[in-house]
Amino acid sequence: PSYWGPPVSEIQIELANIDKHYGAFHALKNVSLSIEKGSFVALVGPSGCGKSTLLRSLAGLESISGGTIKIAGEVINNVPPRKRDVAMVFQSYALYPHMTVAENLTYSLRIKGIKKDVARRSAEEIATTTGLTGLLDRYPRELSGGQRQRVAMGRAIIRNPKAFLFDEPLSNLDAALRVHMRKEIRALHDRLGATSVYVTHDQIEAMTMADHVVVMRDGVIEQQGSPLDLYDRPVSKFVAGFIGSPAMNFLPGTIGADGMSVGLDIEGAPSLPLGRKAEAGQKVTVGLRPEHLVAADPAVAALRLPVAVVESTGSMTYLTTATVPELTVVETRRIDAKAGDTIGVSIAPGHVHLFDAVSEKAI
Ligand code: ATP
Repeated sequence: PSYWGPPVSEIQIELANIDKHYGAFHALKNVSLSIEKGSFVALVGPSGCGKSTLLRSLAGLESISGGTIKIAGEVINNVPPRKRDVAMVFQSYALYPHMTVAENLTYSLRIKGIKKDVARRSAEEIATTTGLTGLLDRYPRELSGGQRQRVAMGRAIIRNPKAFLFDEPLSNLDAALRVHMRKEIRALHDRLGATSVYVTHDQIEAMTMADHVVVMRDGVIEQQGSPLDLYDRPVSKFVAGFIGSPAMNFLPGTIGADGMSVGLDIEGAPSLPLGRKAEAGQKVTVGLRPEHLVAADPAVAALRLPVAVVESTGSMTYLTTATVPELTVVETRRIDAKAGDTIGVSIAPGHVHLFDAVSEKAI
């Protein structure tokens, strides 16, 4: 045998052929997913796609209708939630209001019979790790949202679980704190060498925090991969539209007679070279990311388009065209345009996504 090659990864969580029915409703359809030890995996998808159901099944809070769940190599289908050795962190924090921070943190130790002074020392250590030093004797109502979230994290960490399961933990925080906390959670994950599964409907959160993103849709996994893999190589129009903000632009088009270009079904638009072969005459949906549309001099640009909305954040300019369908253009330059103007738009070569018009699968 050869001893060369990448290290063999260890699977910490294995979900095989998971089915979940709520009465007649099929919420999870034969879902299989392997999660490597030490990885940070995000489950994303629109409301109702089944991501929380999958996480709750893993935690044992939901019974599954079929399939096998393994944690650290052991089948845990019939193991009750408390004994699964996973720690769940919720959006609502689920802190005990009548207990101090220290008591909240050490609750799981105390019910195991660990002595008060030993538990207190653990609480002090966790407080250092999670930035709660000096707050141990406060009650949850005396904490900010971010601090409560840290207590919820600390309470999970103190149990030293085989995996951390997060269910939209940052949804109750304001935008700035959310951005801060996502870095904090990721740094904690790295420091602890933890395995984390993180449910969110916020694709930016998934993209920025996770090593591996799982996009779900209607109870199945539509695609999984590294964040940039999903961004650059979406397998379907659904994933392409879900990952990326502002969202990818979609336009109807037709592959040219040579099979090497695509014509946009917009008056006056030039054909776009594909750099590869597609089926001549095929009806497609063309996907163009907003940053691959470049505002340019109308005299030389590929497209001349009326502008409906101009939004500037200072660092970025977002232009929305008054076309059907409308297009979004993102510029890091300041663009001196206003509603009603006509702008030139060039299309960055080599960034044309194609989806079959009917199946919506990537071509
Ligand atoms: P959200 O982001 O809105 O939380 P989600 O992707 O997490 O969505 P789930 O909570 O997993 O979605 O729910 C998946 C589907 O199962 C939804 O259509 C939901 O209505 C349905 N569902 C969830 N719980 C139950 C239940 N107890 N009884 C019946 N249907 C349920």
